[in-house]
Amino acid sequence: MVRALSVPTLRPPLPVAPTLKRLGVAIRSLELPAIEKIGEESMGDAFQVLVSTMLSAQTKDAVTLASSLRLFAVAPDPASLARLTTSRIEKLIYPVSFYRNKAVHLKETARILVRDFAGAVPTTMDALLTLPGVGRKTANLTLIVACRSRDNICVDTHVHRIANRFGWVRTRMPEQTERALYEVAPRRWWATINLHLVTWGQHVCKPVFPQCGRCILNDTCPKIGVVREGRVA
Ligand code: SF4
Repeated sequence: MVRALSVPTLRPPLPVAPTLKRLGVAIRSLELPAIEKIGEESMGDAFQVLVSTMLSAQTKDAVTLASSLRLFAVAPDPASLARLTTSRIEKLIYPVSFYRNKAVHLKETARILVRDFAGAVPTTMDALLTLPGVGRKTANLTLIVACRSRDNICVDTHVHRIANRFGWVRTRMPEQTERALYEVAPRRWWATINLHLVTWGQHVCKPVFPQCGRCILNDTCPKIGVVREGRVA
């Protein structure tokens, strides 16, 4: 059930730092995103964070988590993953989206980590981007969650959508959003933008029918681009 917004909003953009601070408090009672859970449970194991982030593309969090845990039970490190056949990896990670392509990328990435990086995950953006299937989103999240970098912003579909709804950026593509956020967000918030907006996006500020009626930002959010709100029970 939804209701259309009757009047286009003319509210100004939300202030970045105070909004992230409010969301930081609000998300404490919400379930963590899958990659954050894997980061916590593996105590920041960079290989497991990298692999689960690769699996997460276009895939629901519950599926990412279950598939990652199945895979890590058999292949917890690059060497053991490199030894698996692609078809075995496919079976372990199914039903993540694009599981056939991801299986190929995972095996090749594991092989490269063993061959070129002594079995470790590299800790620079340039080196991470040389790995098959690794783009800026995966590289940034690996650096933030596993390497504790404070110098990166990870933009996925939630961050891209919500940053635009808030009026922080006016962008069409996630990579544009990442560049714009480095300009508008105070540096101390860079590493936590993903955690705060992804958690909010999964539970409240959903892609199609955002739950504005139960949102702590409802009175001030400009809701740019929102045409329908989800009905709150
Ligand atoms: S749920 Fe609605 S009010 Fe809350 S952040 Fe999203 S668009 Fe703004």
